[in-house]
Amino acid sequence: MAANADAIVVGGGAVGASVALELTKRGATVSMIERDSIASHASGFAYGGLFPTMGAGIPGPILQHAMHGISLHRQLALELKDSTEIDVELRSVVSIDLAADEDGFRNLEKSLDWQLEEGLKAELLDSEGVRHLEPALTGNLAGGLVQLSHFEVDSYKYTLALVAAFEHAGGNHRTGDVVGLVRDAGRVTGVRLASGDEVRGNAVVLATGPWAGAGSEGLPHIPVEPKKGEILRLRFPGRDFTHRVSLGGHYIARKPDGLVWAGSTEEDAGFDDRPSVSARYAIMAGVLALAPALESAEIVEHTACLRPVSADDMPILGAVPGHEGLFAANGAGKKGILLSPVMGRMVAGAILGDSGGDPIPAEFNAARFTDQESA
Ligand SMILES: Cc1cc2nc3c(=O)[nH]c(=O)nc-3n(C[C@H](O)[C@H](O)[C@H](O)COP(=O)(O)OP(=O)(O)OC[C@H]3O[C@@H](n4cnc5c(N)ncnc54)[C@H](O)[C@@H]3O)c2cc1C
Repeated sequence: MAANADAIVVGGGAVGASVALELTKRGATVSMIERDSIASHASGFAYGGLFPTMGAGIPGPILQHAMHGISLHRQLALELKDSTEIDVELRSVVSIDLAADEDGFRNLEKSLDWQLEEGLKAELLDSEGVRHLEPALTGNLAGGLVQLSHFEVDSYKYTLALVAAFEHAGGNHRTGDVVGLVRDAGRVTGVRLASGDEVRGNAVVLATGPWAGAGSEGLPHIPVEPKKGEILRLRFPGRDFTHRVSLGGHYIARKPDGLVWAGSTEEDAGFDDRPSVSARYAIMAGVLALAPALESAEIVEHTACLRPVSADDMPILGAVPGHEGLFAANGAGKKGILLSPVMGRMVAGAILGDSGGDPIPAEFNAARFTDQESA
């Protein structure tokens, strides 16, 4: 156990691991505490898409950070391979957003316009063009937007590699359920574990994903909610879906191991993270409408986990108002794998008082929530 660390990071998901690695690289002594195991929640089961063109805040305030996230991932993949020998399987992917009708096609045209304005490579295809690329898409289609700005990683290997690199750089990680904060003269100076142990540190980072929203007697409430998401992994021999195709909330994509991932769902189900029959039906109904041939696929795995989502869909980063010494690294929503290196740098900079070129922007700053909401 590393008592009196410069910082304690609570949470061994992609976000906590990124903060811990970044702090350690900058010379801080860091203890990471995870109550289950590394990458055992959303960070280990996420699709792993590094998609700068879709989701909340895009086009908008997230875009520049998403692009920065991709360039950091490209450097990190090499660094992590060097220091840990773990290949995070970073690769570029061609994504095709589909339109089922003329209205949908007009939306794709708008998306194409802003993507080209931003200098991103994209191209609009009619339904024939889409089927030329993905012949199994025999459902109704008006066309598709082919995007060449997308990458992906294996999110489980990525999170494991971050922690391995953190340990390699001198950080230490232990198992523990953090149930309270230790304070000296009103300042947060450590955490209390369910076992009764205390771990001391000059700063404490709560990177506890959706559970930060639950708060507890001993831990402040960070305003995030769990948003449940489920994914099916299918065995479907052949070469279909080497392009990731998506329509509305559904997508189909083949991963490097040959399995085809079909997703996903978005549900307010509290902290219930069990795979459900209803999600299995909803996902299969969505993807079969696009590609009826998937009816013959074998379901190999069905996963469910919880995204940490803030009220305005933006990350919650930096000093927690009203709790000197306490920092938040949370609220990544559907983009936590993509944004984790950016969030790691921003929070490490806030703790060490040196932004290193990555200051926390106002729209991500934990201070935007009132003391009442965050305390
Ligand atoms: C279906 C699905 C698909 C997704 N696809 C993508 C994608 O393609 N691209 C992308 O960028 N993002 C994606 N995401 C989002 C991404 O998974 C999350 O944003 C990200 O994993 C959040 O990371 P985190 O470290 O904040 O939280 P988590 O991964 O939940 O980690 C938090 C950790 O804190 C620990 N913890 C909590 N409380 C305590 C405590 N009191 N003491 C000790 N430890 C504690 C937990 O055990 C957990 O391990 C997806 C999410 C889902 C659900």
